[in-house]
Amino acid sequence: MSPIPQIALTDGHRIPQLGYGVFKIPPEQTERAVTQALELGYRHIDTAAVYGNESGVGRAIAASGLAREELFVTTKLWNDRHDGDDPDTAVAQSLERLGLDRVDLYLVHWPTPAADNYVHAWEKLIGIRDRGLATSIGVSNFLPGHLQRLLDETAVVPAVDQIELHPAHQQPEVTAFCAAHGIRIEAWGPLGQGKYDLLELPEVTGPAAELGRTPAQVVLRWHLQHGHIVFPKSVHPERLRENLDLFGFELSDAQVAAIDALDRPGGAGRVGPDPTVLA
Ligand code: NAD
Repeated sequence: MSPIPQIALTDGHRIPQLGYGVFKIPPEQTERAVTQALELGYRHIDTAAVYGNESGVGRAIAASGLAREELFVTTKLWNDRHDGDDPDTAVAQSLERLGLDRVDLYLVHWPTPAADNYVHAWEKLIGIRDRGLATSIGVSNFLPGHLQRLLDETAVVPAVDQIELHPAHQQPEVTAFCAAHGIRIEAWGPLGQGKYDLLELPEVTGPAAELGRTPAQVVLRWHLQHGHIVFPKSVHPERLRENLDLFGFELSDAQVAAIDALDRPGGAGRVGPDPTVLA
């Protein structure tokens, strides 16, 4: 299998473009799921404090015997930990659960604009990075107005913005803003979380039949060709294998354009929470 490409971040570090997301994997199943993923060749794990499964990720990492520098681990600061020095406590707790002395990427999980404390949370993440507890820092679910405030008030550019992004919800305003400022896009819910008929649409099944690939591989390949960083979630070994096997084929420009045309503007294709209202 071809190696997973590394994407350069603006802070000089690199991230594997493909990883494994563990949202909704129950804590008691996480060690086994991550062990399986590492055995198959995944080296980038995306978790979050709120997923409740950082300890399982940590146990799988410890048991893997892999060198720390071979792994890329992301976790996230939850919404009720933005204030005061709580981000410092929260990252220490995440590191403890993960059994690590640093994460590769630490994110502010949601902007929670009604609380108006995401700039403070970002300032705390800058300190966390400066103390070496996170190699890179970024944000998640931030819209252009939120990102602009971080740039205006701190002048530290997030390495990534992890946003809901799949064919029905492509968020062109966010991706344009990020492209203009060197912020890499991480696409969460890359398969639409299985919440709509994405994998049955002719724009997806057509190329799958032509290329002898599965619909999920076509959608994930569409993400990669757009430069998105993805970490699809599954606990089934055959799907984990399939989701890793994306580098031996390519979509044509026309196939990419047909999937691009599935976007439903104005948030109509969103399957997760609206970042402007999530508290
Ligand atoms: P996803 O789009 O990866 O969908 C996962 C679902 O897709 C699985 O439950 C399964 O039903 C299906 N699936 C996976 N592989 C498949 C295959 N090969 N064929 C057919 N179906 C397949 O959604 P997700 O898990 O929500 O997103 C991926 C990761 O993004 C998460 O695990 C998490 O790490 C991250 N995430 C972040 C946020 C955030 O707010 N930052 C929110 C949600 C998810």
